[in-house]
Amino acid sequence: MSLNQQSSTKKDLNYWIKTGQKMVADRQRRIERTKKWKFDTIATHGLYDLTQALQLNSGSIMEPVYMSTAQAYENSYHMEAGLSYQMPNWCYSRIANPSTYFLEETAALLEAYGTDLASSCVATASGMSAIRTATEPFLIKDDSLPPINIVTSAKVYGGTFQQFSVRRGQEQGIDVRWVTNPTNMDEWASKIDAGTRFVYGEFPSNPSVDIFDIKAVAELAHINGIPLIVDSTCASPALTRPLAFGADVVVQSATKVMAASGTTIVGLLIARHNIISKVGSDEMKADFATWAKFWPFRDNGPGLHAMGAIMTLNDIRTLRPRIAQMSRTALTVSKFLEAHPKVDRVFYPGLTSYPAYDLAKKYMRLVDSDENHYGYMLMVEIKEARDDENTNTRKFYDGLDMIWRATDLGRVKTVACMNAISTHQQQGEDGRTLASIRPNAVRIAVGVEHPDDIIADLEQGLLKI
Ligand SMILES: *Cc1c(COP(=O)(O)O)cnc(C)c1O
Repeated sequence: MSLNQQSSTKKDLNYWIKTGQKMVADRQRRIERTKKWKFDTIATHGLYDLTQALQLNSGSIMEPVYMSTAQAYENSYHMEAGLSYQMPNWCYSRIANPSTYFLEETAALLEAYGTDLASSCVATASGMSAIRTATEPFLIKDDSLPPINIVTSAKVYGGTFQQFSVRRGQEQGIDVRWVTNPTNMDEWASKIDAGTRFVYGEFPSNPSVDIFDIKAVAELAHINGIPLIVDSTCASPALTRPLAFGADVVVQSATKVMAASGTTIVGLLIARHNIISKVGSDEMKADFATWAKFWPFRDNGPGLHAMGAIMTLNDIRTLRPRIAQMSRTALTVSKFLEAHPKVDRVFYPGLTSYPAYDLAKKYMRLVDSDENHYGYMLMVEIKEARDDENTNTRKFYDGLDMIWRATDLGRVKTVACMNAISTHQQQGEDGRTLASIRPNAVRIAVGVEHPDDIIADLEQGLLKI
């Protein structure tokens, strides 16, 4: 008998199931302990503690990057228990990975922070795959229901607009109903009927910085027996946590401010336990994110690399202080731009001129403080001679010196984007009108540079007009 096999012979299926139960209880203890901490502490430590460090990682104080495709099993019963989901195991990195696990546990706790909700998370290879993983399970065939439709804010990210209108709408024949004014509750209500499978909104929307009343839309969805799914990438859990206001599922393009260093594309799907839905199994509704991870995510394969998981986790630790600084700077920059003679309009939830300012005040608050903060993203429209022109806008945009021209946001470095010619170019004139993207619009995602230097660059850019 080899050294490796000696201890394994008595370890039958029952042994591994019992071991699994201990592992589950141990994880639950860690969760209870971590849940008592404040936001910054959870973001910094998550579930990784000394015991885990000694057991898994030679005592390292930072979480390990498991660069391995697969897990080895002690014996056949260990494998059997793991593969039948009778004990926690990670098996194969498309399905799970211990590094990704630490990111998922932290994200689940941060999105449910300040509530007694139980929540779970599955990390994906991109924000787009998180959106797909979050929405597709609600579109399953059910002959007892009328033809499928979905009700979504029209003020959504360009990729989301394409995923819904082309992939779900044109290719799969699903009726996609756009809500053009997401602050109008009557419009949401008028679009929902017995065929609606979910309601979807972005808070705030990229790039038009629109918001909606999360609590009211969640209530409306639940009266109709369907879930509310919210993409809160541009707020992040440091400002707005939709689960606390009744949302069932949250998606994050953690690519943005959560992984602000800009090294990684990463998505997160976080769901409360016991979501509302007309379709799907009891298991799916009980713990949607874990169910999604066990089944469709496993089969579709949009897994995140372990390296990306740990790089994201490293940035999440400083999310709250970063959001605070970025928000302060974004407000200063917004006020500067609003007062500038070459500027037509500025959209930023922290400006009193913002159409839904009262709603923004209600929903956008720096966690663990009583300060209102409004995030890193603003949209400025440059004065043009005609509505369909972008001559001055291009002069300003091309004149930027320090600020990067890129289709990116949430970075530690300030980035500016002309959306009509880039991110929202594919959806055409009608799609842009729906999403309120004008040719003279420039989205500015404020970074952590000193505000004086950001403003100086914008000012010299505006002088080029
Ligand atoms: C960028 C973005 C996405 C897509 O995320 P990726 O990580 O690029 O796939 C989705 N929603 C919003 C609001 C975004 O800004």
